[in-house]
Amino acid sequence: MTGPAAPQAWQGGLPLTYRLGPGPAKLHLLIENDREVRSIWNVVGRLRGMEKSDEWVVLGNHRDAWVFGGVDPSSGTASLMETARAFGDLKRSGWKPRRTVVFASWDAEEFTLTGSTEWGELEAERLKAGALAYLNVDSSASGNRFSASAVPALTRFLRDVARSVPDPSGGSIYESWRRTEGSKAQEPEVTTRLGSGSDYTVFLNFLGIPVADLTFDGPYGVYHSIYDSFTWVDRVGDPGYYYHAAMARYWAVAALRLAECDFVPLDYSAYAREVESYLDETERTASERKLQVNFGSAREAAKRWERAGRLSLEAANQALAASDGASVERVHQSLLKVERALLDPAGLAGRPWFKHLIYAPRPTYKPLVLPALTEAVEANDQKLALSEMDRLTQALNRAAAALESGFQK
Ligand SMILES: [Zn+2]
Repeated sequence: MTGPAAPQAWQGGLPLTYRLGPGPAKLHLLIENDREVRSIWNVVGRLRGMEKSDEWVVLGNHRDAWVFGGVDPSSGTASLMETARAFGDLKRSGWKPRRTVVFASWDAEEFTLTGSTEWGELEAERLKAGALAYLNVDSSASGNRFSASAVPALTRFLRDVARSVPDPSGGSIYESWRRTEGSKAQEPEVTTRLGSGSDYTVFLNFLGIPVADLTFDGPYGVYHSIYDSFTWVDRVGDPGYYYHAAMARYWAVAALRLAECDFVPLDYSAYAREVESYLDETERTASERKLQVNFGSAREAAKRWERAGRLSLEAANQALAASDGASVERVHQSLLKVERALLDPAGLAGRPWFKHLIYAPRPTYKPLVLPALTEAVEANDQKLALSEMDRLTQALNRAAAALESGFQK
């Protein structure tokens, strides 16, 4: 091609300068697609809880790949199999979890997240009634950098788990995670802006279940290509498979803690503070666009939610210290309702399947926060922005009320 030189990072391995277009080069691209209907298979295993079999901790990974799928998804599948094997060993030793642990191997993720979406819709009622969290691992190891995305309620829990799992480089995952983010980071960062692109979507956006997505990543240039193979994983991605094993340990410890906890460790004051910062952002956009929208009542609702989040954890810890099981359980049950309270049954304008009012993907999979309100603001639609502000405020108040029901007399 004859355009300007391509950026340094795009230069390839041949002894010439890689350039951008336009041509004179012409390319004849022939695309062959199969268009047929085929069966897909989810494989779902359950380890039934002894005390609370209706409460579920769900672990999932997809099994289909674009080509060989060395990293995406087979590294994650190896970690899932290993996690399930470890739970199987525990069970054979006579142990059983308090809650039910579900291990899911999804099919057809690469085809619009189909396997997990169908299962989530099929099990919607049971999941909404009792799922504590969905822990997704797509690719478990394309490198050695731990990375976690999750709803803000889970960030503290994910850091706590990282403190107790060894990293293959020595020390804990928490320590190496913090190191890779530079010494200035007080706490390693969990990405809380969730878009889409893996199987957690149905759980968060349709069912309102707290989700996390975990990986060890690195320079992974072979993603979704024919070169993402066993050979690449074996020689480049994770020689020795240490990070595959580390992910299995991390995943198992997280699942075990959720399956055994006295009350689910969801931190909603952190979530509310995060939402307050989204309100600031959206208010700036609205005022740039000269829209007249009052953010006061949404802010007030977020403050109420923040306070309720704090008080509910205090109440749970006090009740636990006093061995007051009934009060602990009351807080626990209230915590299970909060993420669900952020859904609106009518969904987002033009795409009603997406019901979560704090997070949604853009069409590109990029994250969109306060999606219903933000889309109204971005469309300069004054009237819609007012009604979306109202819906959002109601959702935040529902979330606060759900928490308050757990500790108020
Ligand atoms: Zn994948």
